[in-house]
Amino acid sequence: MNKEQLIKVWKMFAEKNNFQLNPDNSMVDMVADGVLNNEKKHGMKLCPCRLRDGTRERDLELLCPCNFKTHKTWEEKGMCHCGLFVKKE
Ligand code: SF4
Repeated sequence: MNKEQLIKVWKMFAEKNNFQLNPDNSMVDMVADGVLNNEKKHGMKLCPCRLRDGTRERDLELLCPCNFKTHKTWEEKGMCHCGLFVKKE
């Protein structure tokens, strides 16, 4: 999957779930690059802005999209930890 396809899938995922991709395209672009780099390095689409600890459990938590609605940043800032997905205005 290339970057354009990945962003399209994220967009559909966000629309289906009543939130949105960050309107700042440069932010979306940066996260997409990070996720795709992680896929090349580790074979999984892992979050680019949180740290791995080498365990499978942690890797599963970091699969993007993650369970970000349970994170503090969703309640406090209205966005996932990386700012990829944001609440609708
Ligand atoms: S915090 Fe955002 S970018 Fe990171 S894995 Fe979760 S949804 Fe993806």
